Amino acid sequence: MRKPLVAGNWKMNGSRDANRELLSALQSELDGLAGVELAVCPPAVYLPEVVEALADSPIEVGGQDCSDQASGAYTGEVAAAMLKDVGCRYVIVGHSERRDRQAEDSAWVAAKYQAALAAGVTPILCVGEQKEEREAGRTEAVVGEQLDAVLDAAGVESLDRAVIAYEPVWAIGTGLTATPEQAAEVHAFIRNRVAGRDPRVAADLRILYGGSMKADNAAGLLAHDDIDGGLVGGASLDAANFAGIARAA
Ligand code: PGA
Repeated sequence: MRKPLVAGNWKMNGSRDANRELLSALQSELDGLAGVELAVCPPAVYLPEVVEALADSPIEVGGQDCSDQASGAYTGEVAAAMLKDVGCRYVIVGHSERRDRQAEDSAWVAAKYQAALAAGVTPILCVGEQKEEREAGRTEAVVGEQLDAVLDAAGVESLDRAVIAYEPVWAIGTGLTATPEQAAEVHAFIRNRVAGRDPRVAADLRILYGGSMKADNAAGLLAHDDIDGGLVGGASLDAANFAGIARAA
């Protein structure tokens, strides 16, 4: 049985005061909730403080990105080992906002994924198609390429220590959620693609959905067998909304 994971991607939002408030509201909303794993991914500068604030909580902490390099002359970058050092369990790699704005291609994302694993941090690998790619019937080709780049580089068994997030780019921050059927179709595609390499790994793999997931649409998405949780952006900044998603999982 796969334990669902609901992870909040705060993106470039927050402040020390706002984070304290959000975390304390989250902890009261989520108190006693069992059967689901929870994580928050704040901006890098706040990670140590957030880890400390959650020291007595089952909520895990993750980074939003890491370097593909272990250490050295890489101004502005954060190494996966540093995330581990301050107490992160997870790191998001290959988010579409970084693929787009920082021009991260699949080979680069695969290198970040491997750097995270080498440091003992669980990568949450994001894959997903743009609107035009879906309209052109290229969803599976795009997602397949993003996935294969990582599996070719790191091997299928690396997925035992990783999580995948399917995030259709056209659904991120737009209020346009994929229908449960649209999402489930791609989740099944991803699981089958992994099963082609190793059925056991595929059966154990957690595949999260991301893209305008909210408390009021989460249950429909999470009802599908292949959808094992969520990577939540906007709604993760609101404790009640995030907790609603967690309860639906
Ligand atoms: P959203 O973002 O929930 O605000 O659409 C999801 C994500 O980008 O991870």
